[in-house]
Amino acid sequence: MIFEHAEFHDHEAVSFFHDAESGLKAIIAIHSTRLGPSLGGCRIRQYSSTDDALTDVLRLSKGMSYKNALAGLPLGGGKSVIIGDPSVCKTPALLHAFGEAVERLNGRYITAEDSNSTPSDMEIIAQSTKHVRNMGFGPGDSPSPVTARGTFLGLEAALQHLSLTIEGATISLEGLGAVGMDLARQLHEAGARLVVSDIDPERVRVACSAFGARAVPSGEGHRVAATAFVPCALGAGLNARTIPEMQVRVVAGAANNQLATPEDGWRLRERGILYAPDYVVNAGGVMSIPLPGQSLSMEERMSRTARIPQTLKQVFDLAEREGIDTNTAADRLAEAVLGDPDATDRAV
Ligand code: NAD
Repeated sequence: MIFEHAEFHDHEAVSFFHDAESGLKAIIAIHSTRLGPSLGGCRIRQYSSTDDALTDVLRLSKGMSYKNALAGLPLGGGKSVIIGDPSVCKTPALLHAFGEAVERLNGRYITAEDSNSTPSDMEIIAQSTKHVRNMGFGPGDSPSPVTARGTFLGLEAALQHLSLTIEGATISLEGLGAVGMDLARQLHEAGARLVVSDIDPERVRVACSAFGARAVPSGEGHRVAATAFVPCALGAGLNARTIPEMQVRVVAGAANNQLATPEDGWRLRERGILYAPDYVVNAGGVMSIPLPGQSLSMEERMSRTARIPQTLKQVFDLAEREGIDTNTAADRLAEAVLGDPDATDRAV
């Protein structure tokens, strides 16, 4: 019945792993290895059912294929989930057993950190498999500055598409974490007026004092009358409730899975709001990952983000040409690349 699962799409392989001794229950989904070994993080979560876990891993692995394809990387898309409460299940024995599971796939899946799996978990997993990419092994290895730079360039490209500039724009930025705070600094330096929100009052205080930002309560960022809304906190913030309340020309931010449903892409289009698809805008993180046998300087990582505005231009042009929403346009471009790796070069 896996073949009939609503999220199965055209996945190449889905593997279930069980280790009675450590209690490991894991699913590894490989959506595509057409462009290279599949890469995607390992999420650890107490799912309410195995079907929920399966739905999550299938959706996320497909998303990684699309993201890696539009990032121009020789990588496919995969993802893994470990089913369990991360505060109790994450024993060294379980992480080793997970590493052995990854190893059994012979490099067709490369794992990495994700929600509830940390750089130090990856170090333990790496004792059982060489197929681990970890941005946190060395100092200065965080993907966040590259994600922040890519998001800046993505926002700039979306504004330029409407003949607007960051200088003089009012930007409502939600989420002042590793990405959001760095982005706030860049936007301030580029002459934007900032309106910020975060559940952490200390982060809001820092942004107000360092960047002259104005604060709004968390949960209110999307309602600010501004040039752009920049979500850098949680997913699903663009939905049937929030979109009618928005008063911006552009949405472009780093948060993953910003659209609660695919229909929300169309809702934004109908409201005349240009949405820069999240997985194109936040690809700086995945662009930071050195491929096997490669080492990447920070300068090289940063230079890869120049692709983000180019890809967005293709997405916006395709959406206009076909009368579709930008998220659908990005998906179509990614599908073209997955079918034919040279496709984006011809897609403009
Ligand atoms: P982070 O955990 O460092 O920061 C998240 C920030 O959002 C925190 O300041 C937190 O207090 C705030 N926040 C949480 N809930 C909130 C709410 N309801 N309202 C307002 N603020 C809230 O995370 P990050 O690394 O900065 O990543 C931000 C987003 O970008 C996440 O969705 C992440 O998945 C995505 N992303 C990050 C990277 C990266 O390189 N770090 C790459 C790709 C995508």
